[in-house]
Amino acid sequence: PNPIVAIVGRPNVGKSMLFNKLVGRRLSIVEDTPGVTRDRLYAETDWNGRRFTLVDTGGIEPESGDELLSFMRRQAEIAIESADVILFLTDIRTGLTASDREVANILLRSKKPVILAVNKMDSTGPTDPEIYEFYNLGLGDPYPVSALHGHGTGDILDACVSRF
Ligand code: GDP
Ligand code: MG
Repeated sequence: PNPIVAIVGRPNVGKSMLFNKLVGRRLSIVEDTPGVTRDRLYAETDWNGRRFTLVDTGGIEPESGDELLSFMRRQAEIAIESADVILFLTDIRTGLTASDREVANILLRSKKPVILAVNKMDSTGPTDPEIYEFYNLGLGDPYPVSALHGHGTGDILDACVSRF
């Protein structure tokens, strides 16, 4: 069986858009409204000759509150159980949030390989210094990415396949 990479992160950080960009097809639904992705989606893909299965763990996402936290915990635990590498996606526009910290702690305890990516870094040129706050999660160097434009996706894929 192929290694599994699971994309985990809060609603609306861009999991589905990144999934689509990495897979190269519009398989999952991307919407402006949080919570719009209907199903967990799987796709077989490859990078530099390494085949793997990519999973968008979104599903039906709650918008806020206690429901959000329990959803995030469950999502992280499913990823820990089923994935070989976890791609933890955050969002430069919202910055680091309490639920990012919560999920990061669950992932850290799992000892699974985690690639931390900060999405919506759309501009080229010097890296926005706001990315540095994401070092506080204790998950190593954050990878800047723009799921919209595709910037940074190659580095993320390199990082993922290096952990199989
Ligand atoms: P999900 O809930 O994590 O699956 O997030 P979606 O993929 O549905 O994206 C949520 C919103 O963020 C949508 O409005 C996307 O167009 C937007 N978005 C996602 N990635 C990017 C990005 O790299 N740059 C910008 N500017 N917007 C993005
Ligand atoms: Mg989604």
